[in-house]
Amino acid sequence: MLKRLGPVLVAGLAALAPSTAAADARVFACEPEWAALAGEIGGADVVVYSATHGRQDPHYIRARPSLIAQMRRADIVFCSGAELEIGWLPVLMERGARRGVQPGQPGHLMAADHVEILERPERVDRSLGDIHPSGNPHVHLDPRNIALLAGELARRLARVDPGNAAAYRARLADFRARWSAAAERWRARAARLRGMKVVVHHTAWAYLVHWTGLERIATLERIPGVPPTASHLQSLVERVRAAGATAILHAPHEQRDAADWLSERTGVPVLALPYTVGGQEEARDLFALFDVTFALLERARDRS
Ligand SMILES: [Zn+2]
Repeated sequence: MLKRLGPVLVAGLAALAPSTAAADARVFACEPEWAALAGEIGGADVVVYSATHGRQDPHYIRARPSLIAQMRRADIVFCSGAELEIGWLPVLMERGARRGVQPGQPGHLMAADHVEILERPERVDRSLGDIHPSGNPHVHLDPRNIALLAGELARRLARVDPGNAAAYRARLADFRARWSAAAERWRARAARLRGMKVVVHHTAWAYLVHWTGLERIATLERIPGVPPTASHLQSLVERVRAAGATAILHAPHEQRDAADWLSERTGVPVLALPYTVGGQEEARDLFALFDVTFALLERARDRS
């Protein structure tokens, strides 16, 4: 999906830099949350492409030709990293990514390289199928990480598109002001959710749980990426009942059968959350993603 975020050239730019007619930076985002952030910071000076939409599992997509074509044109590749995209991003990069977006270059921005990574395993046994060997890559559900990445992205955009550096800095300042005001409100809401017990399917919620102080009492996947087994699910029934869990969190891209199975046996409701921008219709930008998530968690708490 190509998201045209503004006119190709801002007024006056062509006159200033006649040799760079296609002066906008093209951002290839692996996930919708990073595409949304690129839209906030890049505004009309960038063209943003998101490789996945809000209902796709970013661990598993096909490196199809349309993605390769977009990758070839990218000035910045902006992804979660920590091996979230290990199954498809390296293939896209090999098939013609520019030098400027290769690892170590300013156009190569992996969110996980700039934030504190949770759940880094002490010992990885890939034979068990663990898809988080470098720690948990789902870093965007902590607003502090979004703020960090906003700053890093603005710096990178200024490097690859210096003609618009002032505009990127200005948008960063504006975004930071709005984001920190929103984060203040979310912190207050998080404080009232602290200790709420939840069950998750995949550990996609680790950063949200960590930041809000929710308590994860069970994970349906015994190993990240390995589908829940019958024996593991059976072993959770008593624990979940005894702990008095409030909800089983569910992301749009996850299979629902295991969550429903556990819900039927424990009476704990399944709570569908957007997970990312576009994961639910109302979660149309990063601000709405957190607003909607909090509203749904609060409703679940009030009903329990
Ligand atoms: Zn994962």
